[in-house]
Amino acid sequence: MAVTPLSFSGSERAFARAQQVLPGGVSSPVRAFRAVGGSPLFFHNAAGAHFEDIDGNRFLDFVHSWGPLILGHAHPEVLAAVNEAAARGLTFGAPHLGEVELAEAVAKSYPGVERVRFTSSGTEATMSAIRLARGVTGRERLVKFAGCYHGHSDGLLVAAGSGAVTLGQPSSAGVPRAVAELTTVLPLDDEAALDALFLQRGSEIAAVIVEPIPANNGLLLQRPEWLRRLRELTLRHGAVLIFDEVISGFRVAMGGAAERYGITPDLVTFGKILGGGMPVGAFAGGKRFFDQLAPLGPVYQAGTLSGNPVAMAAGRCTLEVLRRDRVHLHLEGLAQRLEMGVRSLLAANNWPVAFVREGSLFWLQFGGTEPARRDDRIPADGAALYKRFHRACLERGVYLAPSAYEVGFISAAHTEQDIVDTLVVFAAAMQATFAGGKP
Ligand SMILES: *Cc1c(COP(=O)(O)O)cnc(C)c1O
Repeated sequence: MAVTPLSFSGSERAFARAQQVLPGGVSSPVRAFRAVGGSPLFFHNAAGAHFEDIDGNRFLDFVHSWGPLILGHAHPEVLAAVNEAAARGLTFGAPHLGEVELAEAVAKSYPGVERVRFTSSGTEATMSAIRLARGVTGRERLVKFAGCYHGHSDGLLVAAGSGAVTLGQPSSAGVPRAVAELTTVLPLDDEAALDALFLQRGSEIAAVIVEPIPANNGLLLQRPEWLRRLRELTLRHGAVLIFDEVISGFRVAMGGAAERYGITPDLVTFGKILGGGMPVGAFAGGKRFFDQLAPLGPVYQAGTLSGNPVAMAAGRCTLEVLRRDRVHLHLEGLAQRLEMGVRSLLAANNWPVAFVREGSLFWLQFGGTEPARRDDRIPADGAALYKRFHRACLERGVYLAPSAYEVGFISAAHTEQDIVDTLVVFAAAMQATFAGGKP
């Protein structure tokens, strides 16, 4: 793939127009390219591992809509399932078998899941799982970890206070202090901090929510021992352990991080892959929790489009293909190839970059070769280096996330040749990044 000077003039015009009606020109902030500069690209069509912008530029995609498209863009079977469902009606607002079938598939895949409640986004799933945990325990305190993302509900947009076991502070304008104070934020990878918090406040903690594979602020892989300690402490103190597997669910394995680490949470949240590209989330777990959820119990939760038949069809088809075609084996092969190639490239040149990977999720940590396990250990100069790397890849036809802190996604639509081509582009883009000249 040679460097051809691409024209982005159509996207630039579209962005100017979009900014007159959409805040920042986008429907979700990271899409605005603020972290990497330049105008975001406006896309027109996509198929497999490639997509095309409105200027007719074609890119090999490693974002895949931030994870949902594990089978690639516009997968023919998923499209057929969606079309078939749509032809029978876009929404019923009443029960249908599609939601039963997808729930059955989730229960079959994930350890400890007996009941599933669908939502329309990951944000709703985590928000509702926390309400359920509070309703069941009769407690109010929520614990989360710095460097994990769980969507944008009030109680989750919270940063650590001044001490390890202090009350949280809003990390967004508009989040009431009183709500933030019910959240305690701890560092990842720190057993002593867990022990101290549970010793001091164990009986107040309704729930601990964690991305068992933190993949929204770099890829901060955790030690299994740390996760096991979290499981032990929550059990001992009667707190509900929520695995937020919105990004890792059905990606690292059919049973997500729970299967990967052999640790079963009390509740789990899903999104992204579960909808196969349509807006879907879910929270799930044991019957004893869900007996407390409306209409059975006093914890209220609802949704006009929850269990939407078209979205359920996309999710069902995606999970079926994942299982039938043993897609995770194929993804692991591709990902290993990418990892080996990038590692030898980095080693040969002594570039200060770490390649971090879990299954088909990968992250290039710029600025240091030691992979971080906590957000405050991510090298500070990485973002500036990534900005150069991102631009150099884009100009060579490889589309990476427009932020140094977002991970890459390999899909079943990638081929071995795509990986080989990517390694060539990465080599040139690294040269451009570290040469010091114009990338
Ligand atoms: C994407 C994500 C969310 C939020 O899901 P939305 O569908 O964007 O609301 C929550 N938690 C994790 C771990 C995610 O990756």
